[in-house]
Amino acid sequence: MNTKVINILTNQLKMEVKNISEVKNDELGVLAQMTDMGHEQVLFCQDKQAGLKAIIAVHNTVCGPALGGTRMWNYNTEAEALKDVLRLSRGMTYKNAISGLNLGGGKAVIIGNSRTDKSEALFRRFGQFVDSLAGKYITAEDVGISPQDMNWVSMETKHVAGLPGKSGDPSPVTAFGVYMGMKAAAKIQFGSDSLEGKKVAVQGVGHVGEYLVQNLQKEGADIYITDIHEETLKHVSNKYGATVVGLDEIYDIEMDIYAPCALGATVNDATLDRLKCSIIAGAANNQLENENKHGEIVRAKGIIYAPDFLINAGGVMNCYGEVYDIPSNRIMGMAEDIYNTTLNIIKKSREEGIPTYLAANRMAEERISQLANIKQYF
Ligand code: NAD
Repeated sequence: MNTKVINILTNQLKMEVKNISEVKNDELGVLAQMTDMGHEQVLFCQDKQAGLKAIIAVHNTVCGPALGGTRMWNYNTEAEALKDVLRLSRGMTYKNAISGLNLGGGKAVIIGNSRTDKSEALFRRFGQFVDSLAGKYITAEDVGISPQDMNWVSMETKHVAGLPGKSGDPSPVTAFGVYMGMKAAAKIQFGSDSLEGKKVAVQGVGHVGEYLVQNLQKEGADIYITDIHEETLKHVSNKYGATVVGLDEIYDIEMDIYAPCALGATVNDATLDRLKCSIIAGAANNQLENENKHGEIVRAKGIIYAPDFLINAGGVMNCYGEVYDIPSNRIMGMAEDIYNTTLNIIKKSREEGIPTYLAANRMAEERISQLANIKQYF
């Protein structure tokens, strides 16, 4: 690939980051939106008899084949579905690149109600469309998709990761990566990466949250938890001796580390006035409601935000192991390395006076443009 193409690619990626929350691209045509966000290819798929309406977006394959889950959602409009798949696939490019994986970024959305519109025919037809991309896109489960759905997809294509009986539940790897990111942030914020005696508030103790609590308990952290499910709360509190706090109270307690492991956008105008923490590190996706604005406020307050898309990458690493047949101990080693990447990001953020999410984006872009020198598009 020549230098001009590399420069265009790098500039595109930079512009995307700068404009992530500013571009009103629903007013643009499909190709203009793709150009705006740097997508390589978008595949629109329909089959009336199977009831399938889907969009597969391949954002960038410089680092490798585009991997990202399929989401089934009852979007109000096709424009909304397109916007979502473009945004999510681009996010996967950054996640896979910053994690050092031999994977690019992609995502798929199926438009429909995941409770009422599913059928074998729909998913097998979708699998045929995935297969038509000949490995350029590898799919996996996401919101609204069950293991059974993916089994149907896999009857038509081998380009599926995260199947039952293969790499298994990604949550322990994800939680370990979050824990590593948290320790790296502590190393810089407190001068030691020990979390012993540190007050950590975990919001959401589901799959990832519970494993995170397990890691924290082993290290002697002072753990506070909240969850909308009483049973889950009781179970985790009894098992690990964590203190239960209210759903809203979690934003007001004195704590060293806030770990969002339930919902996105919990770091926003309202909560930033209340949060008394010096580190934010959790598993939830898109924790900053507005990356540009809240990333900067967090930085100005002296809080270290460990970028979510890096520290929760254990899940995608698990799929990566399945795609390239990498043993689980090596995948755990990769999740452990999130520690070093987080340290590098925080250092870069401080040296350049920029929010950590932006430092992470820039590091991902640097890797992509370096690899673009040695690789052709997939
Ligand atoms: P999960 O559904 O098992 O757990 C989420 C927990 O949050 C549930 O126990 C739920 O009751 C609770 N919850 C929901 N709303 C809440 C609220 N308002 N306040 C407090 N608790 C609330 O999901 P998970 O697999 O543990 O994933 C947690 C987060 O991490 C999600 O945002 C997910 O997208 C993200 N993530 C997960 C993985 C993974 O490997 N599972 C990988 C990357 C990112």
